[in-house]
Amino acid sequence: MLNLIFLGPPGAGKGTQAHRLAARFNIPQLSTGDILRKAVADGTPLGKQAKGLMDAGKLVPDELVNGIVEEALQDKAAQRGFLLDGFPRTVAQATAFDEMLARLGRRIDFVICLQVPVETLVARLSGRATCPVCQTPYHPLSNPPKRPGICDNDGAALIVRPDDAPDRVRQRLAEFENKTAVLSGYYKARGLLRGVDGVGSPDEVEGRILAVLRDRVTQGPANP
Ligand code: AMP
Repeated sequence: MLNLIFLGPPGAGKGTQAHRLAARFNIPQLSTGDILRKAVADGTPLGKQAKGLMDAGKLVPDELVNGIVEEALQDKAAQRGFLLDGFPRTVAQATAFDEMLARLGRRIDFVICLQVPVETLVARLSGRATCPVCQTPYHPLSNPPKRPGICDNDGAALIVRPDDAPDRVRQRLAEFENKTAVLSGYYKARGLLRGVDGVGSPDEVEGRILAVLRDRVTQGPANP
């Protein structure tokens, strides 16, 4: 059982690393951003409520994302563990999540906080593209697809997210500073926070995260 939260600003590599670790440990990556984007694409009531805020780079209301996460956690696939990417993003979400976990008899092992300077974040977010089918993220500099614009795994045409436009990127970074950065203090106070240098190749960053997870094996759970 491995229950991890990835914390960090947009562009820190949460999605990339959660995607890799999900495959390595065979547990689901729960990305509230991916779930919301699918709801928008499918035109569901949830998607209709979220679309305008997402396009503007603003957070959607806590009640909506809390409901999404509670549902995903009860899924059979999540019984062996989860990798949360993009949730919680506010103190209210973190508190609601603690209550949810207590109700379900689960606990967080670690909160991995990926640390990346702001100029690197902006460079990473401009130009990144994602596969709409398998959600693999690509970037022309760090991990380009073999054929430009085409996913290596399934041949789908890659898409650039509307909220990766430069003014939306600035808005998303501001939302992080205003509402999410405080969560590192929240989890530090609970002994769960592990800072990881997020600068480097995806392999290098994954190696640093695996080193943190090995500590769990040798030192026992962070939150026994
Ligand atoms: P992401 O893919 O994690 O960058 O999320 C994309 C967008 O989805 C964000 O800019 C928000 O509009 C919305 N979103 C994703 N996760 C959350 C969350 N936990 N709380 C509020 N809004 C979220």
